[in-house]
Amino acid sequence: MLEYISTRGNYEKVSASKAIKLGMVPNGGLFVPEKIPEIEMNKLYKPKTGDYRTLALEILNKFLQDFSKSTLNEVINSSYRDNFDIENVVSLKRMGDRTHLLELWHGPTGAFKDIPLQFMPKLLSKSLDNETAILVATSGDTGKAALEGFKNVDDIYIIVFYPEGGVSEIQELQMTTTKGENTASVALEGSFDDCQRGVKEIFSDKEFKSEFHQNFSSANSINWGRLVPQIVYWFFSYLKLTKNEKIEKGEKIDIVVPTGNFGNILSAYYAKEMGLPINKLICASNENNVLTDFIRTGLYDTDRKLKHTISPAMDILISSNLERFLFHVSGNDSNKINSWYSSLEKNNKFTVKSSDKEKMSKIIHGEFATEEETLETISKIYQKRNYLLDPHTAVGVKCFEKYHRKAKNKRTTIIASTAHPFKFAPAVLKALEDGRKKKGLEAMDKLTKLTGWDPHWGLKNLQGKKIRNKYTCSKTGIREIVRKILKN
Ligand SMILES: *Cc1c(COP(=O)(O)O)cnc(C)c1O
Repeated sequence: MLEYISTRGNYEKVSASKAIKLGMVPNGGLFVPEKIPEIEMNKLYKPKTGDYRTLALEILNKFLQDFSKSTLNEVINSSYRDNFDIENVVSLKRMGDRTHLLELWHGPTGAFKDIPLQFMPKLLSKSLDNETAILVATSGDTGKAALEGFKNVDDIYIIVFYPEGGVSEIQELQMTTTKGENTASVALEGSFDDCQRGVKEIFSDKEFKSEFHQNFSSANSINWGRLVPQIVYWFFSYLKLTKNEKIEKGEKIDIVVPTGNFGNILSAYYAKEMGLPINKLICASNENNVLTDFIRTGLYDTDRKLKHTISPAMDILISSNLERFLFHVSGNDSNKINSWYSSLEKNNKFTVKSSDKEKMSKIIHGEFATEEETLETISKIYQKRNYLLDPHTAVGVKCFEKYHRKAKNKRTTIIASTAHPFKFAPAVLKALEDGRKKKGLEAMDKLTKLTGWDPHWGLKNLQGKKIRNKYTCSKTGIREIVRKILKN
C-alpha cells in the first residue's frame, strides 16, 4: 500500500487517510507520497476516460489506497456531478492555434479550488473517527470554496482566516454569507502569510490542541486531500486534446499555472511524474515574484515587502507547496529540506545548490507579469477574442507570451484559468475602461452591461444575503478566537 512520509523526515509513515486527517505533519513538514505512482498512458486512451468521474477514479485510486474503490467512486460521483455547471467539471477553450485555456471555475464559488474542495470534505468525513476542526488560511478563494465544501458536513467545524482588507468585497461577502451551522470567517489584522503562519503554528502546538476534544486539520493545499484531486484535470485535458486531434498521443505539451501557494502547479508536477507527457511547467507570478527569482537564481528570498495586487490569490511570499516540490526534486532528501527551511525561518531566505537548481530548471520555468501588463492582457484578449480573463488567468497568459518568445521549441500549451472573471470584476472592468474604480457589486453590474457576460451563478444575489458568523482578530489573537468559536 502506498504510504505518506514527511518532507522533514520527522514522522512515521502514514496511510493516505491519516495524512488527510492530520492535514500537515504535526511537528512541521508536509506529507508526500513515498513513491509517486506511475500510470500507463496507453491505458487511458479510451472513450470512457472522456468522463471526468471515470478518469478521476483511475487516478485517485492510485494515491488513496486505503479507501475502497467503492467509497472513492461514491465520493467522486457526489462531488463531480450536480455541483458543477458543465458535464465534465472542466472545459478547454481555444485561445490560439496551439494554446488552450483550461477553465477550472465551473464549480459553486467560481474558483478552481471548488474542484478539490467539493471532493475533500466528503472524503474526509468517510475516514473521521472524531469531531474535527478545520482551520483554513485564505487569500480569498480557498476560504469560500472550503466553506461551501464543508458546510453542514457532520462532525466538522470550519474556521477560515483571511487578511483584513486583503480580500475583495465580493470574496468577503461570499465568505461571510455562507450558510451552515458549522462555519465561521475571521478577518485577521495582517497579511495572508500571517494567516498561514498562525494556522500552521496551531497545528504544531500540542498543548493548545489538547485543550479541545476535536482533532485539527486543514483544507489548504498543505493538506494532501486538497492537492490530490487537482492531478485529475491535467490528465483529463490532455486526453481531450488527443481526442480532438489537437495533439498526437504521447506528444509533450507545456502547462502554464498562475501560482500562489504552489499547489496547483505542484499537482501538474505530480501528473508529469506519473507519466503525463509534459515538457515544461511555467510558474506564473505577479509582482510578488519570489518564485520567479528562485527558479532563475536558486535563492529563495522573502525579505521583501508584500505587494497588494489585482491578483490577490497570488500575493504570497512563502509558497508552502514548494517544500514538496523541492523534496522530490532533491531525491527525497529531508536533510536538505530541514536545512533550507530552518534557514528560511531564521533568515527569511535559503539557497539551493546549483545542482539542485539545474534539476529544477529542467522541469520548471518562472515568469512574472506586472500590474500594467496584466491589465493590458485582459483588455487585449477581450478586444481580440471577446473573452474575459480574470486577473490571475491574465497573469498566466502574459507569462505564457513571455515564455513563448524565448522558447526554442514551441509546443501546444494549456494555461490554467483559475477564476471566473466576475470574481474580480473591479480589476477586469478597470482593464476595459478607464475611470473611477468601482467596488465589487457595482463593478459586476457594469461589467454585465458592458460585455453582456453573466456573473458566475455563485456570485448572483450576494447583495441581499445575511452576514453570519463573522469575527475579527489580531495577529496574536488566533488562539483566543479559536477557543471562543470552538468552545461556544
Ligand atoms: C488559489 C488561486 C491561485 C493560486 O493557486 P495555488 O495553488 O495557491 O498556487 C491562482 N488563481 C486563483 C484565482 C486562485 O484562487
